[in-house]
Amino acid sequence: MLSIPSKLPQVGTTVFTTMSALASQYHAINLGQGFPDFPMNGKLVELVTDAMRHNYNQYAPMPGWMPLREVLCEKFESLYGATIHPDSEITITPGGTYALYTALTTILEPGDEVIVLEPAYDSYVPNIIVNGGVPVLVSLNDDFSIPWDRVGAAVSDRTKAIMINSPNNPTGSILSADDIEALRQLIRRQPMFIVSDEVYEHLVFDGKAHHSLLRYPDLMENAFVCFSFGKVYHCTGWKLGYCVAPKALTAAFRKIHQYNCFSCHTPSQVALAGFLKDKDQYLSLGAFFQEKRDFFFKGMEATRFVLKPSFGSYFACATYNRITDLPDAQFAGVLVKDHGVATIPVSAFYQDPSGHHLLRFCFGKKQETLEKAIEKLTRL
Ligand code: PMP
Ligand code: GLN
Repeated sequence: MLSIPSKLPQVGTTVFTTMSALASQYHAINLGQGFPDFPMNGKLVELVTDAMRHNYNQYAPMPGWMPLREVLCEKFESLYGATIHPDSEITITPGGTYALYTALTTILEPGDEVIVLEPAYDSYVPNIIVNGGVPVLVSLNDDFSIPWDRVGAAVSDRTKAIMINSPNNPTGSILSADDIEALRQLIRRQPMFIVSDEVYEHLVFDGKAHHSLLRYPDLMENAFVCFSFGKVYHCTGWKLGYCVAPKALTAAFRKIHQYNCFSCHTPSQVALAGFLKDKDQYLSLGAFFQEKRDFFFKGMEATRFVLKPSFGSYFACATYNRITDLPDAQFAGVLVKDHGVATIPVSAFYQDPSGHHLLRFCFGKKQETLEKAIEKLTRL
């Protein structure tokens, strides 16, 4: 057998695979991997079934089903005041991860540097490395705000892009208007691409605004903005998302996409095109998940975990120094095996996993699941 020289010698199996396997092995409650344990909307189930029955079962157009692109562009206009052309500036992709990966493949040449803020969603760094790029890591401040001075210091003449993620996984933080201004200053000093991961776009709480890059035409000039239907419409298994970018960038993105995937699952696209005509389906999501966040935070007050605020996404991070001083990966192992609750150690979102003491909880679950988990955590 031939040996394979790994392009990613430093990585193993993802933390989500590992923790979900442990959760099922130990019959633990899974507040680890980010997926809802409640059913997706029945209307969407009917729409996808109808689409299949009506024979929407052959290849969709390479950039995506046009009515879906159109309804998304109407949403961009009404939510973000952005005029995006459905024919030339949006591409439907098999998930948000693929959209991010393809954006990086589109722009990176060997040796290009990409600024990544840590903790970072676990696919970013491997995606950069596989594409020949060099991740340049900058740690967030303790309160998860962005240290723009250190980001500025990380820029070099090889910087090709910066990756941003709001609402943020794993921290639950969101970009503010000041962050947008700081990003603008950074890019004025040295032009670079922005790869913006906005898969949790509608999961923003407390009446705050989602500062989508789509709102800012100057920043959009060099941006790829990536979204996921799975994350917001409770159908992570559909693996469907999209990438918005200006015409020239979209053309370059599609060059890669057409030979990697060509087109995405047709019935799901037809279904979502119908579903999204009803604006309430996305306008109600913030309140829906905020209720879960509030329920979880209230319940966790009875435990010895201390949650950091979560303003968006369906994640919250907690410290636990009143319980143990074990590193987070070890403590997550103890929690799932001995206490029946699966979480994600935040060290999995750092290239240097040592010295971290934070666990990520997913509160995008049924109330009874959260209740059961809290009851177990209260015993610690
Ligand atoms: N980015 C972030 C921050 C995520 O949490 C996820 C969730 N998996 C993704 C991208 C990918 O989304 P998808 O499942 O659509 O690939
Ligand atoms: N985005 C999800 C999370 O952060 C997991 C997706 C995956 O398993 N790759 O939990």
